[in-house]
Amino acid sequence: MSQSSAASPPDRPSRSTGERTADDTAGMTADELAEAKRYGRYDLACTLADKALDVAYLAAVATFAARAVDGWLAGLPWLGASDTLRLAALALLVTAGHWLVASPLAFYSDYVLEHRFGLSRLSWRRWLWRYLKKCLLAAVLAVIVFVGLFWIIWTCHWAWWMVGAVVFFLFGAVLGQLFPVLILPLFYRIERLDDETLTAPLVELARGTGIAIEGVYRIALSEETVKANAMLAGLGRTRRVLLGDTLLSGFAPEEMEVIFAHEVGHHVLRHVGKMMAVGLVASGLCFWTCDLLLRAWSGGAGVDYAQFPVHALPLMMLLLTLVTLVLGPLHNALSRRWELQADRYALDRTGRREAFASAFRKLARLNKEDPDPHWLDVLLFHSHPPIARRLALAEQDIAGAPAADGPRPTGEEATRPSTAPAE
Ligand SMILES: [Zn+2]
Repeated sequence: MSQSSAASPPDRPSRSTGERTADDTAGMTADELAEAKRYGRYDLACTLADKALDVAYLAAVATFAARAVDGWLAGLPWLGASDTLRLAALALLVTAGHWLVASPLAFYSDYVLEHRFGLSRLSWRRWLWRYLKKCLLAAVLAVIVFVGLFWIIWTCHWAWWMVGAVVFFLFGAVLGQLFPVLILPLFYRIERLDDETLTAPLVELARGTGIAIEGVYRIALSEETVKANAMLAGLGRTRRVLLGDTLLSGFAPEEMEVIFAHEVGHHVLRHVGKMMAVGLVASGLCFWTCDLLLRAWSGGAGVDYAQFPVHALPLMMLLLTLVTLVLGPLHNALSRRWELQADRYALDRTGRREAFASAFRKLARLNKEDPDPHWLDVLLFHSHPPIARRLALAEQDIAGAPAADGPRPTGEEATRPSTAPAE
């Protein structure tokens, strides 16, 4: 439900000066707020540097190294005869080069900063081991994705962008299924939540939503961080709610209920399926734009799809990175909208407005999350609404509905998707 990100809709710009309300500060002391803002600024600087580095690296490789490296690979035994093998080798080399270039910044942002702000629990050895695992996973995915994409270009020619979007949608569906059972366990210990006192109220909240209570898991985030988090992951039979052990240990049962209900809200409102549908359109748009750029690049000669050169790989990576950067804010805006819908669902389903507010105040303090960051930061990079915005939602509710804090009667009414406007 909440990554360390937070967001503010553009119609509610941050107030950098003037009066602050308890919502704007999420109940933090002046020192806590200053610390959260400082952390947010470092985080933003690292995000910007990382994206700039990605673009600069790929542009440099595409311009200066791609042909030479491809020529060298073509001269090697085994690789020279097969475009596919050469492509896989080039994808590995480009990805490995990216680690070399990006590692210092990754170490600084994921290890140094997280320790400086007292958020990480990893020793540098364990950090390195996890980082290597992430890099290997990224390399495997890069090879699969780009070999697949080039195969589609070679065989489907001009229609590659349409076929590519559909194939990526299907690939995303498979990855979505595997994510909680195969990929997450590479990084975290995950076990089924079987504590009766914890699960009893959750059983009630899950009733009628299609989420089996057997699908509620504890994820050992505490091995890595002090931050608390929860998520809805998986597709179909692997669909489950994962509650961080950091959340389970530090939050009151009513606060857990609200957070769990938020995740159930994502399930009931079909946000995962909707995001995949949006992803299908987005990757179609992304590949189509990429095709237009390739045509423009060819300068009227047309793109020879059947002979599309292996050394164009870094260029393709660069174009896709650029288009993704442009689409990022749109994706985030949609995500923020759906987060608020899940918040609305949690408030309606549980009726626990005070617990909702106290849970988010706790999250802000624990995760050192700036409750009200600059609107431009939110617009560009935040997939979740700012905590101040989420608290305002509960505040409106408290002002608008005088009902006592406590669960509402359950039943069909409560499980129906909320139709309230999200922002
Ligand atoms: Zn969420």
